[in-house]
Amino acid sequence: MTSTIEARQTAPEPLLDPARTYELDRQHVFHSWSAQAKITPMTVVSATGSHVWDGEGKRYLDFSSQLVYTNIGHQHPRVVQAVQEQAARLCTIAPQHANDARSEAARMIAEVTPGDLDKVFFTNGGADANEHAVRMARLHTGRYKVLTRYRSYHGGTDTAVNLTGDPRRWPNDYASSGVVHFFGPFLYRSRFHATTEQEECDRALEHLEETIRMEGPETIAAILLESIPGTAGIMIPPPGYLTGVRELCDRYGIVLIADEVMAGFGRSGRWFGVDHDGVVPDLLTFAKGVNSGYVPLGGVAISPRIAATFDERVYPGGLTYSGHPLATAAAVATLQVMQDEDVVGGAARLGEEIIGPRLRQILESHPSVGEVRGAGVFWALELVKDRQTREPLAPYGGTSEAMNRVVAECKANGLLPFANFNRIHVVPPCTTTAEEVHEGLDILDRALTLADDAIG
Ligand code: PLP
Repeated sequence: MTSTIEARQTAPEPLLDPARTYELDRQHVFHSWSAQAKITPMTVVSATGSHVWDGEGKRYLDFSSQLVYTNIGHQHPRVVQAVQEQAARLCTIAPQHANDARSEAARMIAEVTPGDLDKVFFTNGGADANEHAVRMARLHTGRYKVLTRYRSYHGGTDTAVNLTGDPRRWPNDYASSGVVHFFGPFLYRSRFHATTEQEECDRALEHLEETIRMEGPETIAAILLESIPGTAGIMIPPPGYLTGVRELCDRYGIVLIADEVMAGFGRSGRWFGVDHDGVVPDLLTFAKGVNSGYVPLGGVAISPRIAATFDERVYPGGLTYSGHPLATAAAVATLQVMQDEDVVGGAARLGEEIIGPRLRQILESHPSVGEVRGAGVFWALELVKDRQTREPLAPYGGTSEAMNRVVAECKANGLLPFANFNRIHVVPPCTTTAEEVHEGLDILDRALTLADDAIG
């Protein structure tokens, strides 16, 4: 097997030189979630494992996994080879045909997803997976409302962005017919005035049940929630919360949709976030880690009960590239790598043995860090102006000079962090080595002194 280093050394020359790439990007590429004139995208020329290289040859340790998806790192040779072989065999075939890569990917996904989720509807990414899950739930129940959490992200397409419970919904919130938001557990910023995880869990469940009763259970098709909210802050649910949500869904005939787009495929040290509570949803949406984003792929894993709704009745939905052979071949190879290299166990160990203990030391030594929380390779640091009041170092939905300085310092020292509002997320690939994790945390530790200075 070729090592990742060899793979990088034998990579073909880039299409353009980095300066030209940047120039054309600024002239012709319209970027997501950005004011086009205010951005200076980093030019990336290559990547391997947990590192990326910019146009000037500078190497960065990728503590963001890009948008939290390169769970097995960049350029894994077995996945690269699988995509190359699939391209040589059959680049594309429409979704109405049976295809070996698609069938095998569906089988492997059914094997790792919890319980009896044994059919897979493939999409191109996470947003469309959530849109289709909601559509399936509405058709299955004959109801239309969907309950989702505040502090959540479910995607950038029309329904998905309205399902979302974070500021990215605000400028897009004109089509949220039937979407009702509720509060989930988040002890550090408890809106239930709870002081323990147990209280937070009980009160969040009471609040959810009250919301269901006030909205009218017979109007609610689904509760859709991230098993572990990701970009909204990596709030690991207290034990029993997801079980409680499952019970409420059963009591009121509501479909439970677990959004595992970010939390799934090993990120939290288990295959899926719901596995921490042993919960089996009716529908589970996924993307990102399913093939580490090497080729766009997402999907919905479906329980037999919901799949049976469409045995005789047509499922009114589909996508030209559903189950694309290059994407599903990448998924097959990725899942094989994950099994052969115990990627999920590796993520759990990094969290337990290194990231968790070191972040707790960081919490002790930096007054600007209010809380650290997470599991596996899925951690958040909550930066505050004042530990007593917990006032965030940047406002909800915004940024601040101090946050920008911390991020810039990390980058200057070769670390790509993932920052959102007042939080820094530590979300490296599951396959990052212990040495690399220490190196990245050393850089972050030093950069946080800038936040301490800013709060005096
Ligand atoms: N759901 C969650 C939890 C996500 O984190 C994301 C993306 O970050 C999405 C859905 C949307 O996925 P995509 O960008 O692939 O459409």
